[in-house]
Amino acid sequence: MEAAHHGGSTEGPAVTPTITDSHVTEVGGLLVHRALPRHGRRTVGAWCFLDRFGPEDVTPQRTMTVGPHPHTGLHTVTWLLSGSVVHTDSLGNEQSIRPGQLNLMTSGQGIAHAEDGRGQPSGVVDGVQLWLAQPEGTRHGHPSFAHHEDLPAVGLSGATATVVIGEFAGAPSPARVDWPLLGVDLAGGGILDIPLESSFEHAIAVLHGNARLDGSLASPNQLMYIGAGRAGMRLELAEDSRVLLLGGQPFTEQIVMWWNFVARSRSEIEAARAQWNEDGGRFGSVPSTLDKIEAPRPFWLP
Ligand code: MN
Repeated sequence: MEAAHHGGSTEGPAVTPTITDSHVTEVGGLLVHRALPRHGRRTVGAWCFLDRFGPEDVTPQRTMTVGPHPHTGLHTVTWLLSGSVVHTDSLGNEQSIRPGQLNLMTSGQGIAHAEDGRGQPSGVVDGVQLWLAQPEGTRHGHPSFAHHEDLPAVGLSGATATVVIGEFAGAPSPARVDWPLLGVDLAGGGILDIPLESSFEHAIAVLHGNARLDGSLASPNQLMYIGAGRAGMRLELAEDSRVLLLGGQPFTEQIVMWWNFVARSRSEIEAARAQWNEDGGRFGSVPSTLDKIEAPRPFWLP
């Protein structure tokens, strides 16, 4: 009866939506709302980290600056709603990113990068950075970086779906995927009938406006987890909303996340930390005038 009332597109025993709030912190001089990981919700598929930065007014002098720091075992997905930031990395890439473009960095066994908004025009910076855990088969591989400006868009009644990564409604993003997953930006409003891959678990991260599903309402900086087993959903967006639809095959490998590292054990993290702090060569060096960020001491070490 619930399914019929909401459009009949639900298949099987769908999970009741559960909503978590973000943790508020600061990164690179900007306020961030961290929607993942949270107590009770560590991952959605391989999505293991979601920071929403801004919206915040910046100037060329007072803006986002994140000095050189390393990553292992993950992809970073950077997606802006407003503003511009320059990425530099230890592979020699320098790439500015603007709204509607995807920066996808793959760390594999190790990469370092910096993000610098200095020199960009004054205005509002608003965006997200997400991490995807890499599976065992690729996490020890070479690092890489890709910038995608041409992403497919799918029209839904009242909204536009931009396929950032994965495939949605038959439209594939050109971005690399190491694990079956989906990331879609939904912009607009109204009642949207959204096709879903029923083997994926899904969540909706609200950036602007709000989203309602099965009587649950999520507001900005809330994450609505809707589980797996749905072949579709009828999502109601308030006018001029902006939300991310995240999904993926449940990630079955047990990850250990600490600082900027995704690993499988504390000893792997201790090794990565030592190699970064001692400039052991694993991560290379980043051509940036910003100061290198040292890895702090893990809480489990004396
Ligand atoms: Mn980073």
